[in-house]
Amino acid sequence: MKLTILGCSGTYPGPASACSSYLIEADGFRLVVDAGNGSMGELQRHCDLRDIDAVLLSHLHGDHCLDLVANSYARRYHPEGMPPKLPVYGPINTQERLCGAFEKRPEDSLADIYDFRTIGAGCLHIGPYRIDLTRVAHPIEAYGVRITDGDKVLTYSGDTGACDRLVRLARDSDLFLCEASFLDDEDNPPDLHLTGREAGEHAQRADVGHLVLTHLVPWGNAARSQQEAAAAFDGQLTVASSGATFEV
Ligand SMILES: [Zn+2]
Ligand SMILES: [Zn+2]
Repeated sequence: MKLTILGCSGTYPGPASACSSYLIEADGFRLVVDAGNGSMGELQRHCDLRDIDAVLLSHLHGDHCLDLVANSYARRYHPEGMPPKLPVYGPINTQERLCGAFEKRPEDSLADIYDFRTIGAGCLHIGPYRIDLTRVAHPIEAYGVRITDGDKVLTYSGDTGACDRLVRLARDSDLFLCEASFLDDEDNPPDLHLTGREAGEHAQRADVGHLVLTHLVPWGNAARSQQEAAAAFDGQLTVASSGATFEV
């Protein structure tokens, strides 16, 4: 499968990237994981918005879901007419969360645009992918996502503090897309985000092949995040950048 970074900025967009969003392609099926602010712009550098087959939301913080508001306008008012409903897999209340971002309740509560499907911990199948979801350590319902295509595995941390469940989810992944929001010397609250070092430690314990750091906050220091991760992880290490692609 092919991973394209559509956005890797944490919390709010930065000068070089939109917020979290990842395009995953295999067998002609396009899955978008998370839809953070501004990410639909980068997506259009790779395909038409109508070419997306499904969306999966790890959690409902704005920096992971709010471009589905913008995307609903693109679908409702497309000059060639509304495309078929787009399946949107997300935590309970995804529909209400998105509808709440409109100035007044959108027509049909977006049910004419999106086919909302509620996720929970466990396994589901989307297109050619087996998807395993595990609750991670974040202030709201949030999932880590393990995506399997044949014998290849990509795991995405979503937003999380340190947790053993993430190590189990990522076990032996070919590529581990892991958030690294914080730096080590900051006063970091628990159960919110990882540091670069913690991302490296989780990757090392899970014995992954390639660690890709993401959710880098605009006020952070990506070079230091990478150094801190490299001190804890001895495999291949990359810092995500908008538009970067990875063959898994
Ligand atoms: Zn986030
Ligand atoms: Zn979050």
